[in-house]
Amino acid sequence: MENPIKASPSVVADYHALFVNRLAYTLQSPRPHPESGRHYYFRPKARGTGKELGLTAATIRRHLEGDLTMGLYAINPTTQRSKWVAIDADYAGAMEDLLKLQYFLQEDNVEAALEMSKRGGHLWIFMEKPVLARECRIYIHNLALKLGVRIRGAGLAEGIEVFPKHDELREGEFGNAIRGPLGIHRGANRRYWFYGADYDLERQIAYLDRLRKVSEEQLRTFIADKTMPPEFDRRRHSADQSVSFVHSSGQEFRILEHVGKVRNVGRNYVTQCPSCAEAGQDRSGDNLAISIEDPRKYICWAGCPKEMIRRAVGYPIRVRQSV
Ligand SMILES: [Zn+2]
Repeated sequence: MENPIKASPSVVADYHALFVNRLAYTLQSPRPHPESGRHYYFRPKARGTGKELGLTAATIRRHLEGDLTMGLYAINPTTQRSKWVAIDADYAGAMEDLLKLQYFLQEDNVEAALEMSKRGGHLWIFMEKPVLARECRIYIHNLALKLGVRIRGAGLAEGIEVFPKHDELREGEFGNAIRGPLGIHRGANRRYWFYGADYDLERQIAYLDRLRKVSEEQLRTFIADKTMPPEFDRRRHSADQSVSFVHSSGQEFRILEHVGKVRNVGRNYVTQCPSCAEAGQDRSGDNLAISIEDPRKYICWAGCPKEMIRRAVGYPIRVRQSV
């Protein structure tokens, strides 16, 4: 049996400085869901009061020592800024895409750290000081497009995912969380390391501390003449743009009958996208928007095509066949 890993107070403090954007966090369920077999993430609440818990040094220590596995949010809601960008890729060929990105980031003098994952990996870029989520997203989306690296969303079910996943958070929103690095992945029951250093906590954190950090000024020069590619600009999207589907029998499919609890956000209901959920994604349950005005219209922000959502809820879209 392995020696239990201990996280020193300085490792915990450095980890906080590198990764924590806000104190809200998620926990990965230690036991798999009885039906799906997946380890979902949830926001922990205090026993009794039901108040949401905030991260403490003890949470980080226990994550690093493998007692629990936490997920970290990408955006601080009071500043709309993030200390990092994480690029998640977990499909066939994911590693090639991440290495390509890492190589071309280097051309911009950006040192990115590659973390192993269950399938593929996560590529992390750290900032000198927190930068606007929107500006991070403009940079990475444009770079990926230039390199021909596919981005999940806008109709593509497979491709990289860029955290922060939102340009801005609205009141009360959390955005998406990503598994905190260097913890134990409950599903895989193992720890994933960064490639750049020996596999122990002290050396891994020292490596991350040593990486060159991107300044806001630098980031702004990268995106000087750029905007968010329109297909990834969430502000332009609304559920109104998706189309409803009418069965040939005339009986309409109603997505609201097939999803879990919904929340009202602006003009939409928001809930977990069934297709994302199937892939273990959308842990924060906010990828699917359903128009309140016309609940036949819905859209997944992560880009799941209608066909995949319909298949996930067990009502596949029938293709007209010639007999
Ligand atoms: Zn989806």
